[in-house]
Amino acid sequence: MITDRIDAITKIPPAYQKAVLPAPKSVKIEISPRCNYRCGFCALRNREVQPKWDMDLGLFKRVTREMREAGVEEIGVFYLGESFMAPNLLVDCVRYLKGELGMPYVFLTSNASMAFPEAVEECMKAGLDSLKWSCNAADEEQFEKIMGVSKKLFHTAYENIKSAWEIRSKGGYKTGLYASSIHYDGEQLKKMEQLIAEKVTPYVDQHYWLPLYSMGAFATLREEELGYRPTAGNQGRLGQLREPLPCWSAFTEGHVTAEGKLSACCFDATANWTMGDLTKQSFMEAWNSPGFVKLREAHLRRDVSGTVCEKCIAY
Ligand code: SF4
Ligand code: SF4
Repeated sequence: MITDRIDAITKIPPAYQKAVLPAPKSVKIEISPRCNYRCGFCALRNREVQPKWDMDLGLFKRVTREMREAGVEEIGVFYLGESFMAPNLLVDCVRYLKGELGMPYVFLTSNASMAFPEAVEECMKAGLDSLKWSCNAADEEQFEKIMGVSKKLFHTAYENIKSAWEIRSKGGYKTGLYASSIHYDGEQLKKMEQLIAEKVTPYVDQHYWLPLYSMGAFATLREEELGYRPTAGNQGRLGQLREPLPCWSAFTEGHVTAEGKLSACCFDATANWTMGDLTKQSFMEAWNSPGFVKLREAHLRRDVSGTVCEKCIAY
């Protein structure tokens, strides 16, 4: 079950309750830093300079080889952007991970609107283990308000979700298909439940709910405008919320931007959370860089005042 995997990553095991750490089990790597949506709660829109270049395949291969050698077992071929913006690169990355590296588990989260059937099938053929759809708007109106783009894409996304299911059945591929949705309040939740039951549940193996993250406090203002209240820090999924401190994001999961920067935070919006540069350092050097070790020490003391995480935890 995908929720068991998420719960395993969002729980910090005793061996990882230290400032200097062995390699994380899981790393997310940004194939493309671009996205065709403009979600109000996404950290992507808060980057000072919008990156334009997708991940360099040579860099991807080098760092994932280092990760595998260090003991990483799971690679997410996404981080903040939408990886189907660069479908060729995405397929190449999955093929390399599953073919040459023998990475045990490769997963992807997508907004589905760009996940056209041919690209999805190539990912499945390449051996993608898990494909998860983010479904976060209950209707066209909410979609335009939250995702900030034309409602046409709202429908395209559901068509693609259905196609992916059909492609998998037809081709007999092993890729797990999942979906998650943000748990809004009241009326919106009811509408959402109905939509999920009709357009998502029949086409995925499992659907689950997420709390509305504070996204490192950056998206808070926007959320307040939208009338949704974020939850503290990054506490995992509803049904299995974690204590905000120490935050698992800095201990059990690596995050690499398309530019090759290692980030402490799964919602990193700016350079503030950069802990290393993989274009210049090895993965393990960056994972235990002096800055990263210091941040983890603050988390372990349960006092992150004066660090980049201060605002996030204030919730
Ligand atoms: S939350 Fe996902 S779909 Fe929305 S803008 Fe961010 S990356 Fe794109
Ligand atoms: S800002 Fe810090 S505490 Fe908040 S989610 Fe990111 S790493 Fe965790």
